[in-house]
Amino acid sequence: MDATEKWNVPFAEEWLGQIRDAERCKWCGEGDKPINRARFCAACKRTQRYAATVRKETGALPDTATDHERWKQNRELQVAEMMEELCKADGEQLSTILHGDLYDAANLERLFNRAAYAICQQREFYGHNATQLGMTFSSDQRRILAYLLWTATLADHKRRRMKLAIRRLHRLNLRREEREAGSDAI
Ligand SMILES: [Zn+2]
Repeated sequence: MDATEKWNVPFAEEWLGQIRDAERCKWCGEGDKPINRARFCAACKRTQRYAATVRKETGALPDTATDHERWKQNRELQVAEMMEELCKADGEQLSTILHGDLYDAANLERLFNRAAYAICQQREFYGHNATQLGMTFSSDQRRILAYLLWTATLADHKRRRMKLAIRRLHRLNLRREEREAGSDAI
C-alpha cells in the first residue's frame, strides 16, 4: 500500500482545519492578506469607500443636473454597487467550498475548467472528469483543491473588479432587453 494513503487523510483534515480557521475578510473571504479591525481586506475596504462616495454624490446631485449627468451618475452607482456584490459573491463561493454540505466533484471540475480557460481558452478542457475527481479525492481533499483554485480566482477578480462589474451589468441589461423584446413580440 502506498504510504501516503495512511497519512494524507489526517493531513488533509488538518490543512482544511487551518484554512477554515483563518481570519478572513467578511466580504470576499481573503485570508492571506491583512484584515482590518472591521474585518475587511484592503481591496474590499477600497470598494466599500468608493461605493459610499458614489452614493453620496448621487444623493447630492443638484436639481439642475441634466438627464445625461443623471444617467452617468446612476450608471456609476450601479457599477459601484455591483462591485460590492461581486466582492461578497467571492466570499459566498468560498463558504460553499469550505462549509457546504458535501463539496461536489462537479463544482471542482468547473473550477479546473475555469483555470484551463485562463491558460488555453478552452472552456470544457477538463469536461467529464467529475466522477474521477470524486473517486480520487476525498471530500476534504476536494475542498482543498477547490480552495487553492479559488485563491487564484480571487486574486484575478480583485485586480479586475470594476471591469467585471461593468461586464456583468452589461450582460444583465442585455438579458433584460431580450426579455422585454420577447414580451413585446407576444
Ligand atoms: Zn475582501
